[in-house]
Amino acid sequence: MDEKADLHLHTVYSDGALPAETLLQEAKLAGLTTVSITDHDHTGAIDEAIALGERLGIEVIPGVELSTNVGSLEIHLLGYFFDHRNPKLQDYLALFRAERLKRAERIVEKLNELSIPLTLEAVLRRVGRGSVGRPHIATALLEEGLTGSYHEAFLKYIGFGRPAYEEKYQISPRDAISLISEAGGLSFIAHPGSAIEESVLLGLIKEGVDGIEVIHPSHSMERTAHYRGIVGEYFLLASGGSDFHGGKKGDRDALGRYYIPQTDVDIMRHRLH
Ligand code: AMP
Ligand code: ZN
Ligand code: FE
Ligand code: FE
Repeated sequence: MDEKADLHLHTVYSDGALPAETLLQEAKLAGLTTVSITDHDHTGAIDEAIALGERLGIEVIPGVELSTNVGSLEIHLLGYFFDHRNPKLQDYLALFRAERLKRAERIVEKLNELSIPLTLEAVLRRVGRGSVGRPHIATALLEEGLTGSYHEAFLKYIGFGRPAYEEKYQISPRDAISLISEAGGLSFIAHPGSAIEESVLLGLIKEGVDGIEVIHPSHSMERTAHYRGIVGEYFLLASGGSDFHGGKKGDRDALGRYYIPQTDVDIMRHRLH
């Protein structure tokens, strides 16, 4: 049988719309046999997901998505197979989340200075159980009638370089890679197709990243083939997934469409030993 692995999913522990239970049920319906839940700066869904996965016959690999910086460029890293109870990792994730909350406050202050009467409470009402991010702020702006569309919120206010933009806590890829590897995991460059130049990509490989997310909705077939080539050339691992947020981001049909074969997951596991 064709075994499909989707190693990039979000839940209500970050900016996904679904709790782990609904997400796994949908994953099952979509024909997935292995998944990783990769919430931003949060591993809260993992224990629940592993238990549910056992009932549904879906293997759940611990995952997380971290935001790192190279200059003003933001690079997302995916961590897999780490011990999600690792105290140092959890301390850092708690720090990243606390910094996200402070950043949301700063963004709200900037919006208020622009005469947009958004409150922090209105943002926090849209946060599920974990990390607050700009998607929650965009949703709050939209639902409070303060912007014409979710996209406009980014274009006019909170997108990179816009007047209410605020940086996240800064951590280098090298430090994020260490954090994941000290917790026993593997790290991958997430969706490099979005903005990462070749020289930056090679820099990340030098710094010890274990693999590249080759399959992602933002990647054309040419991009995917290109990244597969780099994976082969540098003896890296290949990951992939849907980056599904529960239908909130125009991604309603993404589950089951973006996946890697189970053999790629087996190769990752071999690299761990
Ligand atoms: P954060 O982690 O709080 O910086 O939020 C990042 C998320 O915001 C990304 O994963 C995207 O889903 C979303 N985002 C960032 N820029 C844009 C944009 N220009 N338009 C729509 N969504 C965006
Ligand atoms: Zn997200
Ligand atoms: Fe990302
Ligand atoms: Fe993601």
